[in-house]
Amino acid sequence: MGKNVALRCFSYLKNFVFPSLCLHCKEEKADQILCAGCLSLLDFLSSETSEKDVGHKLEIRSAFERRGPARDLMLHFRSHYSQGLAKTLAAFMVVQWDHLKWPLPDLIVPVAQSLIHRLTRGYSTSLLLSEEVGALLGRPVQQLLTRRIADFSQEWLSVEQRRLLNKGAFRWNKRQDLSGKTILLIDDFHVTGTTLRRAAEVLKEGFPKKIYALTFCSSIV
Ligand SMILES: [Zn+2]
Repeated sequence: MGKNVALRCFSYLKNFVFPSLCLHCKEEKADQILCAGCLSLLDFLSSETSEKDVGHKLEIRSAFERRGPARDLMLHFRSHYSQGLAKTLAAFMVVQWDHLKWPLPDLIVPVAQSLIHRLTRGYSTSLLLSEEVGALLGRPVQQLLTRRIADFSQEWLSVEQRRLLNKGAFRWNKRQDLSGKTILLIDDFHVTGTTLRRAAEVLKEGFPKKIYALTFCSSIV
């Protein structure tokens, strides 16, 4: 990791914006988002995890498994708009990006979220994370994807239903030249990776060199 990126990550992680009680155990007083004990429970997924998602043209990874403190950070982020928390989660994602030794992307693309998601939350978690990851890596963010008619939130779907998610869920702005580019696709969470694969399939129409997809956490299923 470049020195500047490392310094920016450090300042993001240092400036947790916080409630006085730890977000996970809700018992310990914390001057950060998590108490020291819960912070120590955060365990980055190893780079060997989810080999099935390592492909020639697409690689899907997460910083953490969706459990314990990582799960609570994500749920809090999904229900409370917080730029500070977006910076924190993004910094963890960039640390994982560095562990994975992925190349600097030419472009960062947020996974477009469903209309229901946007209306109920009033903000896009994937866009917020993309902007902060983009700021840390010094790379541009572009909202290339839009959600098509299958514009529903997947949160209430079963794993099987997610796998069957309509192939035409996304479309992209074809005016953007993606040929030969390295793209970093960002979302807050994934279960099977179906949404990320669908989004990547659409972007592949532009013949990018490779697409890397990174989420803050994922369920191991
Ligand atoms: Zn705690």
